[in-house]
Order: sequence, then structure tokens, then C-alpha cells
Amino acid sequence: MTEATGIVGEFLTLKEGTDADLLAMQCGDFYEFFDEDAEIVADELDLKVSQKSSHGSSYPMAGVPVDDLTPYVSALVERGYRVAIADQHETENGHAREITRVVTPGTHLETGDESAQYLAAVVREASRDGGDTYGIAATDVTTGQFQVTQLDDADAGEALTELYTFGPAEILPGPELRNDDEFLDRLRERTDAALTLHDSASFEPGRASHTVREQFGSETVDSVGIGDQNVAVRAAGAVLSYVEDTGVGTLAAVTRLQAYGERDHVDLDATTQRNLELTETMQGDSSGSLFDTIDHTVTAAGGRLLQQWLQRPRRNQAELQRRQSCVAALSEAAMARERIRETLSDAYDLERLAARATSGSADARDLRAVQETLALLGQVADAVTETERLAESPLADALDGADREAADSLAAELDSALVADPPGTVRQGGLFKRGYDGDLDEIIDEHEAALEWLETLPDREKERTGITHLSVDRNKTDGYYIQVGKSETDAVPDKYQHIKTLKNSKRYTTPELDEKERDVLRLEERRHDMEYERFQELRERVAQRATLLQDVGRTLAELDAFASLAVHAVENDWTRPAVVDGNELSIEAGRHPVVEQTTEFVPNDLYMDDDRQFLIVTGPNMSGKSTYMRQAALITLLAQVGSFVPARSATVGLVDGIFTRVGALDELAQGRSTFMVEMQELSNILHSATDESLVILDEVGRGTATFDGISIAWAATEYIVNSIQSKTLFATHYHELTALGEELPTVENVHVAVDGEPRSAGSDGDVTFLRTVRDGPSDRSYGVHVADLAGVPEPVVDRSQAVLDRLRDDKAIEIRGSEQNDGGTTQAVFDLDSGQFRDGAVQSGDAAAGSTAEPVATDGDPEHAPGEAAAEGPEGDERAASLDSETEAVLSELTELDVNETPPVELMAKVQEWQAELDDE
Ligand code: ADP
Ligand code: MG
Repeated sequence: MTEATGIVGEFLTLKEGTDADLLAMQCGDFYEFFDEDAEIVADELDLKVSQKSSHGSSYPMAGVPVDDLTPYVSALVERGYRVAIADQHETENGHAREITRVVTPGTHLETGDESAQYLAAVVREASRDGGDTYGIAATDVTTGQFQVTQLDDADAGEALTELYTFGPAEILPGPELRNDDEFLDRLRERTDAALTLHDSASFEPGRASHTVREQFGSETVDSVGIGDQNVAVRAAGAVLSYVEDTGVGTLAAVTRLQAYGERDHVDLDATTQRNLELTETMQGDSSGSLFDTIDHTVTAAGGRLLQQWLQRPRRNQAELQRRQSCVAALSEAAMARERIRETLSDAYDLERLAARATSGSADARDLRAVQETLALLGQVADAVTETERLAESPLADALDGADREAADSLAAELDSALVADPPGTVRQGGLFKRGYDGDLDEIIDEHEAALEWLETLPDREKERTGITHLSVDRNKTDGYYIQVGKSETDAVPDKYQHIKTLKNSKRYTTPELDEKERDVLRLEERRHDMEYERFQELRERVAQRATLLQDVGRTLAELDAFASLAVHAVENDWTRPAVVDGNELSIEAGRHPVVEQTTEFVPNDLYMDDDRQFLIVTGPNMSGKSTYMRQAALITLLAQVGSFVPARSATVGLVDGIFTRVGALDELAQGRSTFMVEMQELSNILHSATDESLVILDEVGRGTATFDGISIAWAATEYIVNSIQSKTLFATHYHELTALGEELPTVENVHVAVDGEPRSAGSDGDVTFLRTVRDGPSDRSYGVHVADLAGVPEPVVDRSQAVLDRLRDDKAIEIRGSEQNDGGTTQAVFDLDSGQFRDGAVQSGDAAAGSTAEPVATDGDPEHAPGEAAAEGPEGDERAASLDSETEAVLSELTELDVNETPPVELMAKVQEWQAELDDE
């Protein structure tokens, strides 16, 4: 196949040696893609394809100018491609090309996206006692963050949840996970990350440990406690090795190893993040999300941090108190806050600039940006110390976290070096201020003097020769020349040597000009080289301070995030919640943080604690059940971010996870879910939630037939109450579940109050939703209510209600975990297919008796509710068993009789005959 020679041959050979999806190969002033790659790239980026012939065949070719490569590569990487880049360099015998780096979704330094970009590795090991241990490492090469954790005795769901908190752009599954299709499928379902199979050897414990120690130093590795976490180290080693292999040059920026324990933050799985619309709405828009609503940050780094806080809420009391105190101080000190935000709005993204400096891609403008931003630290620190309310808050300590002296001195150094507005290129001089470097000054002086001589040459020559139309200019082919207008060419002195004739003028040079030209070119080259050299040294010194840049960047970002939370709290009248240990969640006059922005919101109370762990929320459709429950989840989440919350007052017991599941039917409207998915997610919740979690179940079970649905909802409730004991809110239209609220001690019913009867005489059936949540079950069933609202005729609605009441009365299911489980409850099952009751008196512990009871025909009379027939059931059974021969004969005649074909008179005679026969008994 690869018979092509020349450039195409070289391309195909390089392509074979990489596992990147696409290869961009430098050919002079262009990067070219050939063959299939050319077609893919042309398709994705709307480039023109031309043909390149080689060895008799012709190959598609598409190219981009060398200077434009970055945006094209970014676009490809954002679409999920891994792009190898082969640069060209000079050798003794012409050009040589080799792959210098591979840009991948997780290692893309020039990303235009401001949010964090994580590359993660996940490793699984079976431990001796039969459980699984997972190791997870994640790095953001654009900021140099590196985080590691190990989950002992965990299952796949927990590992996935953990991974998801990073929202990774690229994931490296360890060797043990690559054949686990179920794990990989779940990964694909839950993230948009690219999955990359990185060299297995880099996951080997010995090798990985060496890589990690090499990068962070053995002391760091031991002091953060991951030295003995083998599995975590394997993941960390693989991530580092991958970053190194892709050659993006950012490894040096990855300096800070952060290990975190499992209990440090709140689990939020993918479904929960989506249901709660943290960063995007269910429709996938960022506008209308929680983040979008509360984000008032003025810097990219601040916004990124706030978003991370929302996605990784904390459990650490001390940290939450610290954040709250900062927000409280800033919300009270309005003037200082606005001054700080104004100052911060000039800040650049220091964390990202640090990575650019270390990777050697920062230019002089970037270093100026570093200088200007470092200088802001002092200004905001002043604003804090000068304001008593802020000075006495933990903000002062937060600012001490960054070394202000070091920041000032680096800023001063950069300021003394670089001109105020340096050019965008670093190889053409003009970067440095005079006085920064003696040697450089000398060359600059000479260079500028030579330029000055050239600049003033026309005036001198005009004066000397009397020629008026005379100028000095420079171009590529002629170098410097003197140009004289045609009408005056007779007046040129002898020493002018003619070099070119144009339409209206002639060009000349002189020996003197030639000499100056050589001088200028020599000086120019020396100056450019020297400035570039000095610049690289300066950039290297900045790179060595990467940690300082990250610290300052982080401090400013944090300040920005705090100020943003304060602004939102003040503008929306939010309150500081008490964050406590234990299971209490009490909210007085709470609101939904997003809905309150666009709606006249009716505030609601919520109270939960150990004795009131599980709330069954009932109420008509559209009354606000879903909103009420999400509001509880969001207030808990905001409290664990360190934010104020939308309520008059709130006490939030810290949770270790928030789990939500919305019934498939409600999600179906969005076209994204099936009942199967609903059940998988329910299963995940039942596995993952603990007695310290908050669980929100919204119409779970609604995706299937009624009795299926009730049974699942019922059993899930019992299981959560008896075995898991999470704080749970369960909205349901299965009114049957309210029985659980009456029987189980920790389960309570609440309902959204409705004003007015659903069908009062003479009204058109309007109801007013009060949207106030009260204790006790709702008094009406959802379905009948909807039928009513939809205008189903009155007799039908009334009759439905009557039938429903009977169904409820007759159906008592024994409740697990109930204190008065005295047995002897009746079980009746209405069979939807036959329209008949299956019935039987059930003794508890003898449930089988109920299910074996024979169906009994009802009289089919619409005047009699089916429930009545059911009540007669047991009697009917006996009668059926003891039919005598006469009765049987009557019955068989009755069945065989064709009513339509028999004249009425004859029918009457028949009936009389049968009555007589039966009477004879
Ligand atoms: P349900 O889950 O009971 O069907 P939703 O929670 O979906 O009801 O709410 C229905 C509508 O009512 C939504 O448009 C929501 O914004 C609005 N809503 C819900 N609760 C309130 C409230 N407390 N105050 C004002 N509007 C509300
Ligand atoms: Mg709802």
C-alpha cells in the first residue's frame, strides 16, 4: 500500500508510527494532511482538497499555513481527534521531519475553552479479600493541577461517580479495565471523554512509582500519603507518562500533587448533575443553569473555580465555615467588594499563563500579562487590609497564602525588562526596555544609530544635491536604496550607482549606503538573536516561578468566586446557612435558586431529621413537587459549596452525596431516557447512597404499568427506610404510598396544598395551586385530577373517584418495618386485563394463599362497584365449589343460548323454566 515516495511516502511512514488519529506534517510554510486524513480534515474544517501525485497515483492533500495551525488543531481536538504534529527541521542533506507532539483532548494546551480540562486515568485492582480497589488520577495541563485518590473496596459505580466529578476530556483506562465492556460502556454513556489506550507498561506499579517520585519528589509523595497507595500511584504514573509522551511540554507545570480522601467531598453522579442543572439545563444550554444564574465572576479563572466548586461540593466543616465567612464579609463590605472586583477585572489567567511559560509557548505579551496580574495582588490585598470588616475575616489569611513579596519582585523584574506594549512575535526584537541589560543596550544603541542614519539620509541627500523627489526605502530584492523621481535623475551625483528603473523613478545605491546596509542587517540580526535569547532566559525564570503564579492565580480566582457569591447573596436576599453534622435539614421559607429569578416564587418550609428521614411528597400535577425537591437538593449543595442559600434561614446537615432520579416518563419528554435506564439509575442509587446521603426520587416507577410502578416504588421506599436510611424526598402520584407515611415511624407525608375543589358545581374545574407544602398526604389522586382538568365528563370523573376509593380501601399491603405488623391484612389485586378482582384473605406469612385464589366473576352490573364484588369473593368461591348437577345443567344451557336469535317470549319462558329448576333444590 505505502508505495508512495517523496513527501506522501514520508507522511504515510510517519503516520504508521503513531496511534494518533490524524497527522499534520510541516512542508515549508504549510502543514499538510494527506490521503484519508486530508479528506477528514477537509470535511471537518471546510478546507479545500487538492491532489498530490506520487509514484503514479494521486493522493488527496489539504493544508493550513504554519502560523494558523493552532486554531485548526484546536477545532479538530475539540471534535475528539488526537492530532500528531510533525515539524520540519534543516539537516546537512535537506529537510527532515519528525513527530514532535500529539495534541489530544486531555492535553490540549491552547484550548479556547475557559473551563477546566482534565485528563484522567483509572486503574482497578482486585484486592486479596475479594473487593476491588480503584485508583484515579486527574490533571489539568492548562493549569498544572494534579489530583489523586484511591477508593478501597469500591464498586464500578463509585469509581465512575468519582471520575465524573472531574468531567474529564480524556480518560486512560488501566489494563485491567480495557476488557471490561460493561465498565467502558458505562463510561461512554456518562461522559463525553475520549477514551485512550495508553501504553500498558506505564501502569506497572514499579514504573509508575518511579515516574511519580521523579516528578514530585519522594518526600512529597510520602507526605501526601499516596506513597503506600499502590493503585492510586499506578494511575498517577500513567497520567504523567501520557503527558510526557504527547510532548506538549507541560510536564514541568505539573508540580503540585494533591491527594484527597473519599470523604472530603460530596458525590454527585452524572445524572444528578444533569437533573439539578448545575452547569447546563436538561436541554443542554448553559444559560438557565445554576452556574449561569449565580456566576458574577469577572475573571476566567474565577468562573472556572466557581464551576468546580459546584461540581465538587465539600464536606469539611472548617473549610465551609471559612468560605462562608469570606462571603459574609464581602457581602457586608459593599464598597470594598466593588473596588476589588473592579481591580480583578484587569486580571489575566495566571494559572494558564504559568503553563504557557513552562511549555515555552508564552510570548512577551503573555509575560506582560503575568506582570500586570501579579501587580494586582498588592492592590486587592490593600483593599482588604484597609477595610476592617474584610481585614478581620479569613480573607486576610487567604491573601497571605500567596507570597506577596515574591510576586512583587517578579512583577518588578518583568516590568523593568519588557516594554509596555510588546509585539506578538518574540524573534523580531522590540521586546526589551533600555537599561535592562548592558550588552543588549549596546547593540540596541548601535542598531538604532544606524537606523537613525538611514532615516535622516534623504534630508541630507536632498540638501546636498538639491533634488526634491528623493526617498530612502528598503525591500527584499533591492535591500536599501535611494529613489529619485524621473524628472530629476539628471541631477544625481556620480557616486550614485543605478540599480533599477521604474515607470516614474530610478533606484540607486552608494558605497556608503551599502556599507550601512550591511551594518544594519548585522546589528539587526544580532539584536533579534540577543533579545530572543534574553527573552527565553526571562521566560525560563518565570517558568521556575510557576508555583508562585499558580498560587497568586488561585488566590485571585478564589477572591473573585467569593465576591461573586457575595454579590448574588446580596442581590437575591440569600442567607448564611448553619452547616452542621448530623441529619438535620431545615429550611424556613426556602426558594429554588433558578426558578426564583423568573417567577413570583412561593417560599416553602422543609424539615427533616432522624425522626423524619423520608418525606413522601404528593400533590397534583404541576403543583410544584419537583421544584420543591430540587430546591432542597440545591440548597444543600450550595451550603456545601460555602455559599449563602435562598431561604429565610436554613440548617444543613452535611451530606456525603446527593442522588437524584427523575421517573422515565418525565424524562421521556426530553427524549433521553427509557424505563430501563430509570431502573439502572435507581439501582445505582440503592447501591451508592448511605445514611449520610440526600436522595431525591421524582416519580420513580411512573415509566411502567401502574401496579408494577407502585410495587417498585413501595419496595424501594421500604429498602431506603429500613436498610439505607438516607434523607429522602420522594414525589409520587401513587397515592397508595402515603400509607407508608402513616405506618413507618420515620416516613412522613407532605403535600402541595391546592386551593378549591377540583370540580365544584358550576365552576369550570379551575384549581389554584398554593404551592405551599404542608404536612399530611394530598387528598386527591393525581390521575383522576388530571382527567378532571382535561374535561372528561363529570359522571366519569365521579365514578373514577368512587372506584379508586374502593380500590384503596380494599387493598392493604403489609408494610415492612411497620410497628403494627399484625398480619391478617387483605390483599386484593385488580386484574387490568380481565377487569376482575383476584382476591383472597391473606394471613401474613401465608401470602401464597392470596395468589392462588381463583378469580371470581363479578356480576358485571355497572351499578355495583367491582370492589363490592371482591368483598363477596370468598363466599363465591365456596358456592362455585359445590355446584350441583341441576345448576350445572342450567348454567350450560345459559351459556349456549343465543340471545339474538331467540324471540323475547321464548326467552322469558326459558328463564321461568330455569328458575323453577333451581328452586327445586
Ligand atoms: P410537579 O412536579 O408537581 O408537576 P413542578 O415542580 O414541575 O410541578 O412545577 C410546576 C410549575 O410550577 C413550574 O413551572 C414551576 O416553575 C412552578 N413552581 C413550582 N413551585 C413553585 C413555587 N413555590 N412558586 C412559584 N412557582 C412554582
Ligand atoms: Mg414533577
